[in-house]
Amino acid sequence: LLRAQELHKAFGEREVLRGVSLELAPHEVVAVIGASGSGKSTLLRCLGLLESIDDGRILLGDEDISDPRVDANRVRARFGAVFQSYNLFPHLSVLQNVTLASRVVHKVPKRQAEERGMALLQRVGLADKANDHPDRLSGGQQQRAAIVRAIATDPEILLLDEITSALDPELVGEVLELVRQLAEDGTTILMATHEMAFARDVAHRVVFLDGGVIVEEGPSAQILGAPREARTREFLTRFN
Ligand code: ATP
Ligand code: MG
Repeated sequence: LLRAQELHKAFGEREVLRGVSLELAPHEVVAVIGASGSGKSTLLRCLGLLESIDDGRILLGDEDISDPRVDANRVRARFGAVFQSYNLFPHLSVLQNVTLASRVVHKVPKRQAEERGMALLQRVGLADKANDHPDRLSGGQQQRAAIVRAIATDPEILLLDEITSALDPELVGEVLELVRQLAEDGTTILMATHEMAFARDVAHRVVFLDGGVIVEEGPSAQILGAPREARTREFLTRFN
């Protein structure tokens, strides 16, 4: 579904991605792990066309989305993305947040977008918050609403960047539970995470990024349980 080949990205002199190649099959859940600064967010942002690449190629389906001639906004609408924090528009209600992209980008009629938005909010237990502004919700509720907003347009791929790392520990579980359900439903997910237990549980594959290169990748149980590379082992000991 998604195929990145030899991606390079530098910020000034600093090379952040140094030839990253990655594939994502339909319905696959892949976790990107690695130390702070290893390039996880940059990789996700480049794949979702939220950041330009310096070299390499990104294919989504059979379209080369790294071709400078593509309409980036049209391509971005094929992804759903959730980040660490500041996801929701503070001046809009939860339901308006959830339906905005459907209405504006996909031109879905208001009533239809709202029905679908309410159904999704219901599903994640937030129907009673639909008309509240985000600041009335807990951090966990806000992240669940942000996930609902990201999936409301039925994106082909969901990009999740450390969506629980700004949350109080007691709120992490409810957000991860929602991601687990989406994964079980067959959503294609690429997530950067520090939640190793969750990655082992939910991700089919784990990619370990270090210094802008993929050091090791494979089935989650193997990478997290029996890594082959010394750098991966060293990284993981910090989490055990
Ligand atoms: P973390 O676990 O802390 O989220 P990360 O693996 O997501 O880290 P990135 O955010 O991708 O790492 O950052 C990789 C490197 O690129 C860092 O050195 C960072 O300072 C740098 N960087 C990221 N975004 C920019 C930017 N917009 N301008 C300049 N440098 C940047
Ligand atoms: Mg990051």
